[in-house]
Amino acid sequence: MKALVTREMNQYAVEDVTLDPPKAGELRVKMGATGVCHSDLSVINGTLPLGKPMVLGHEGAGVVSEIGAGVTGFAIGDHVVLSFAPACGVCTFCKNQQPQFCTVGAPHGRMLDGTARMHDKSGADLGVMQFLGCMAEQVIVPAISACVIDKSIPLDKAALVGCGVMTGVGAAINTAGVTPGSSVAVFGCGGVGLSIIQGARLAGAAKIIAVDVAENKLEMARHFGATHTVNGAKESSVMKCKEFTGGLGPDFTFEAVGIPQLMMEAHAAGRRGATTTIVGVGKLTEQVPFNALMLSMEGKTIKGSFYGDTNFRSDFPMLLELYTTGKLNLDDMVSATYSIEDAPRAIQDLEKGVNARGVIVYR
Ligand SMILES: [Zn+2]
Ligand SMILES: [Zn+2]
Repeated sequence: MKALVTREMNQYAVEDVTLDPPKAGELRVKMGATGVCHSDLSVINGTLPLGKPMVLGHEGAGVVSEIGAGVTGFAIGDHVVLSFAPACGVCTFCKNQQPQFCTVGAPHGRMLDGTARMHDKSGADLGVMQFLGCMAEQVIVPAISACVIDKSIPLDKAALVGCGVMTGVGAAINTAGVTPGSSVAVFGCGGVGLSIIQGARLAGAAKIIAVDVAENKLEMARHFGATHTVNGAKESSVMKCKEFTGGLGPDFTFEAVGIPQLMMEAHAAGRRGATTTIVGVGKLTEQVPFNALMLSMEGKTIKGSFYGDTNFRSDFPMLLELYTTGKLNLDDMVSATYSIEDAPRAIQDLEKGVNARGVIVYR
């Protein structure tokens, strides 16, 4: 079977790989679809130092085809969305309703027991991204990384809630707590930014200002619910955000790219007392400075949001229910599909920024 593997910095290729059967606590999943996310690129270019060689992919949905010893709650043929953070249910974070921070295992490329299930043609172990590595025709995953979903939901749409849509909608609803009638500004309108816009719309925000430097992204932003747009390459995003909100600035601002300058702009744009939520993942070597006087005087809140502060076992079905009832637009989020053989082109299109979301689909 085929998988997309990165072996060296800025290198990736489709390879023939083999897969061991599931061990205790694991599932074999025949993949239906895998979304292509910026974090995959971050593994390729070393921004996320997760170790190589590694099978990419962490935003996927598929069908359970084999069940390891001791697993309960799953049946062969179940449709599942994969979470890129397993949740054990018993650690301190899981017990405190923050399963996104579950301490069951660090994502170093191996399974939870420290061994590998995926191997290359020579038989050497391959790492997998986030216990998944789901840019592959089949995967072995921890059962505590999977969430059963309704079989009527198309897998290419379902896959998106595994990372980008959950991260964005969750940042708006769970982390920031966007309120009805509020004003919102979203800096960066890729897959996650567009999902923040959808989350703000679902929460009842009155004004949603989208900021990006690419006109095609601003057009997508309007399609998914932005009421105002700012091209940051041509205009001052901070000035425009203030102008659109009676001179004060938005109640809630979001940064969805991971660029320090943009994080500062998002923070500066908000009104006094505003909440700025940082969703973008910057580099480990970068710092974001804040004005030492204004930080207290303006009374603003800065929040980091990881995985949309999700409890995936309840949030994945919730988002898919919103999709099924026509309130969350996943259909238009999938702007291109690719075969696994064509996965490298999907990565290149991600770099070019042409898609809301590119999705790999399997036969
Ligand atoms: Zn992702
Ligand atoms: Zn846990």
